[in-house]
Amino acid sequence: MDAGVQAPPLATAVAKATGAEQDRAGRICVNDDLTVPGHPDILVTGDMMSLDKLPGLAEVAMQTGHYAGRKITLESLDETLDKPFKYHDLGSAAYISRGRAVVSAMGMHFGGFIGWVVWLFIHVGFLTGWRNRIGALFGWWYAFTRDLRRERGFTIDDMAVAAYSSQAESAASIPETPAG
Ligand SMILES: Cc1cc2nc3c(=O)[nH]c(=O)nc-3n(C[C@H](O)[C@H](O)[C@H](O)COP(=O)(O)OP(=O)(O)OC[C@H]3O[C@@H](n4cnc5c(N)ncnc54)[C@H](O)[C@@H]3O)c2cc1C
Repeated sequence: MDAGVQAPPLATAVAKATGAEQDRAGRICVNDDLTVPGHPDILVTGDMMSLDKLPGLAEVAMQTGHYAGRKITLESLDETLDKPFKYHDLGSAAYISRGRAVVSAMGMHFGGFIGWVVWLFIHVGFLTGWRNRIGALFGWWYAFTRDLRRERGFTIDDMAVAAYSSQAESAASIPETPAG
């Protein structure tokens, strides 16, 4: 799924400011400890980072975030993390349709409704804190029981509304020309 994922504009701003290279998706090419070449104090994680052709997936974002957190914590204690970042592929999970998903992890494969239940547990389990977990479950239950499709994707209508709102905001922020 990484084929069409573009890095956010922030990546280009950071690349310009640091002189870092960007890959075809606009992600910043980093050293194996996630630092920007020539800038050991700047770490890049997740969708903004390009290393070893890793895809733009949540799993990569979580593992790079965890590594960066450890590195920063140790350095704040005047210690160093000598190990380079290493990605551990824990498997794949994909939502197919309402109540159906496929999961392949640790040599096990699930599909259909069972796959969806496993997919649900994996996603909720990785959220931080019970407040977020309960919030997500409530939101998903609401969308699932009402078959709300807008919870699952971006629609042309959403994009048109977003474009219209941003144009209206820009117009509102243009200062009036002072009279005379
Ligand atoms: C439609 C869709 C479906 C996906 N499905 C899957 C999937 O099934 N499985 C999977 O593993 N991955 C999936 N992904 C990819 C996954 O969501 C990303 O890889 C992951 O969220 C990356 O995490 P991140 O923390 O790097 O970035 P994000 O989760 O995008 O977080 C970045 C945050 O930074 C904020 N931000 C951006 N610019 C600025 C700025 N200038 N100042 C302050 N804040 C800023 C953003 O608002 C955002 O909150 C999907 C992505 C999309 C778009």
